This record gives sequence, C-alpha cells and structure tokens, in this order.
Amino acid sequence: MNNFTFINPVKIIFGKGQIAAIADEIPADARVMITYGGGSIKENGVYDQVIAALGNRSIVEFKGIEPNPHYETLMQAVNLAKRHRIDFILAVGGGSVIDGTKFIVAAMEYEGEDAWDILAKKVPVTKAVPFGTVLTLPATGSEMNSGSVITRAETKEKLAFGSPFTFPKFSVLDPETTYTLPLRQISNGIVDAFTHVLEQYLTYPVNAPLQDRMAESILLTLKEEGPKAILNPQDYDTMSNFMWCATMALNGIIRVGVPTDWATHYIAHELTALHGIDHARTLAIVLPSLLRYKQETKKEKLLQYGERVWGVSSGTEDERLEATIQATIAFFETLDIKTKLKDYEVGEDTIREIVRRFEERGVKNLGERADIQVKDVEEILTMSL
Ligand code: NAP
Ligand code: FE
Repeated sequence: MNNFTFINPVKIIFGKGQIAAIADEIPADARVMITYGGGSIKENGVYDQVIAALGNRSIVEFKGIEPNPHYETLMQAVNLAKRHRIDFILAVGGGSVIDGTKFIVAAMEYEGEDAWDILAKKVPVTKAVPFGTVLTLPATGSEMNSGSVITRAETKEKLAFGSPFTFPKFSVLDPETTYTLPLRQISNGIVDAFTHVLEQYLTYPVNAPLQDRMAESILLTLKEEGPKAILNPQDYDTMSNFMWCATMALNGIIRVGVPTDWATHYIAHELTALHGIDHARTLAIVLPSLLRYKQETKKEKLLQYGERVWGVSSGTEDERLEATIQATIAFFETLDIKTKLKDYEVGEDTIREIVRRFEERGVKNLGERADIQVKDVEEILTMSL
C-alpha cells in the first residue's frame, strides 16, 4: 500500500425528513444564500422544506445554475452574494449546483483579478465562504468531496479544481428527494458513480486488499441496486442504497493508498464541453476504449474485477479481459446509456479538436502510470467512434 494522509470533514445527515436538521447546522444569525438549478426543487417540495428549516434567517436566492455549471452564471451569483454580504451558502440540487457553489464560495474570497484563474492557472484557493448542501441527485459524490468541475461557455472549456476549503460543512442526503428524478438522470448517476470507482480501482495492484474489496462492494451494490432504481425509482431502500453508493464512490475513502487513473474523466470532459453530452454518457464512451487500450498495464486488476464483479472466470486471459470489458459495456447499455461516439453523432473532427486543445494546453502524462499522451488520447477516442 502507498503512503497516505486522509481527512474528510463533511458531516453527513442521512435519511427521511432530515432536511429539517439544517436548522442546527447553519448559524442562526447567518446571512444565507440558497443556490439551485432550473427549478426541480420547487416541483418536488424540497425547496419548501429548505425554507421551513431556515426559519427566520435572512435569505437570498440564486436560481439558474445549469447542468455543467457555467462560470458566467456563477460570477453573477458571486456578485449577488457579495452585494448581500452573504456568509453561508446552501446548495440544493445535484452535482452541478454543488460544484457551482464550490466555485462561488472560492470566488467570493478570491483576491486576484479573475477567479477563472483558479481553474485555468490552478491558482490555489486559500479561503472560502462556508457552505452546506442538500443533495437531490446521487451521482457525483460532490456532496462529500472538495472537487468541482466548471465550464466556461464562451470558450467551451470544462476544467476542474479542488481545495481543502471547498468541502461542504454538511450534506443532507434524503433519499426521498430523488423520487422525482427522470430515468435519464438515474442512469447517469449509476454510471458516473460506477466509473468513479473504476478510476480508483482499475490501475495496478499495490497489495491493498481492503481498498480493493471496498471498491468491489460499491460496484456490486451499484450492479444490483442500479437496475432496481430504474424499475422502481420511488423505493426508499433502493434509493437509499444507490445514494450512499454514489457518495462512497468519491468521498476519498477508496482512494487512500492506491494509484488513481482519472484519464477517462479528463478526456470525457472535453466531449461535454464541445457537445453538451451528459457527463456520465461521455464516461461511458471513453471508459471501454481506455480499458481496451490499456488492458496490458491494467491486466491484473481487470481480471480481478471481471471475476469478482461479473463472474468472468473461464477462457484465456485475453478472452477474460474482453469479456470483462463487454460486461461493463452491457451494464451501461442495460441502463440505456450508449457507448459509442456515433450514437451521439460525434465524429473524427471532434477527435481532431480535442487533440488540438490538449496540445495547446500541454496535456501529458495522464493515467495511473502517467503514460497516456495526446497521441494515445487520439487512439482511445478513435476506438470509441
Ligand atoms: P446535474 O447537472 O446536477 O443535474 C442534472 C439534471 O437533473 C438537472 O436538470 C436537474 O434539475 C435535475 N435534477 C436534479 N435533482 C432532481 C430531482 N430530485 N428531481 C428532478 N430533477 C432533478 O447532474 P449531476 O450528474 O449530479 O452533475 C453533473 C455535473 O457534476 C457535471 O458538471 C460533472 O462534470 C460534475 N461532476 C462532479 C464531480 C465532483 O466530484 N465534484 C464528479 C463527477 C461529476 P434542476 O436544474 O432543476 O436542479
Ligand atoms: Fe464523474
């Protein structure tokens, strides 16, 4: 096992009716801004529960954080929050609202000229306004991590940042808030969480059987609960298990002491930036090709994954590797998630554009072995055509 340090300060408040508990988590004299998306929280009663819980606190609302949150929108929220001297933000929604709020709280305290530099120039965040979240979409794990992915609409860039200052103070996970999710978002959430686990698991072995088994247990639970969530999206137990899997997939616990890949996410972000394809769907396009392209260097873990998660145990090594990747693709497809670029009407011109952007940005050394270069990205994407 590799050396590691680990901290995750996020308080999780899980279960039915727990939105009311935020009353005890936010200072009574706080000037609160609520951030949310296009309005699903108004239709499903989450908004009313939040307002009731906030009681007499002074509240400002910022509505309209879009999926794949835009820097341009978030800067409006920063201005509004500064004008009202906001000192606590409550993000209510999915990964986009939570990621967007992480950028808002960092940008509010940013002292340089343009907070975009946090993303483009990797300027470290040194302070941020405190915030909490009410999660309505199990998928990203953003409710229990410090990472955030932001899109600049003007230039079609989608970049990530993270900092010790952008962990939520608390997150409420009430599975009942997910009952109104469209099936498309449930599928997306399953595939995003599944891929988060694979990016921290399908690398090379470092003799860390506990991390391996924790990763496998999340994969197996998603494999079992995911299809149930599609069939019965208002089943409390199913949605509870799905919700907790998605949080556990990316709260840092399974990552400790092991190598991580993240090349799939890094490459896939470009497909969302250029074509607006849902985040999870871009992962389903890139991941199978990346696994095939890297199957030699990922061999031991791929074979273990195939056997322990999909029961692939017979045939030659090559046959088992292929059967494992096929099982992964079949799982995504049973969730109605397509895995080829052509399914999204994306062709070679997009691959050329991604290569151009990566060369311009000086992208190199992706993956757990830092051996994926731009020419490899081109080959991986070509395999996904
Ligand atoms: P999302 O973009 O937050 O939400 C997708 C859609 O689902 C929105 O239209 C939203 O509507 C709707 N929705 C959310 N909850 C709902 C509910 N309970 N009922 C009905 N509709 C609901 O989706 P996401 O997959 O959670 O987040 C994707 C973003 O997270 C991407 O930008 C991705 O890159 C990023 N991400 C971040 C991390 C991380 O660690 N930080 C990891 C992976 C991905 P409203 O607009 O009305 O709310
Ligand atoms: Fe993701």
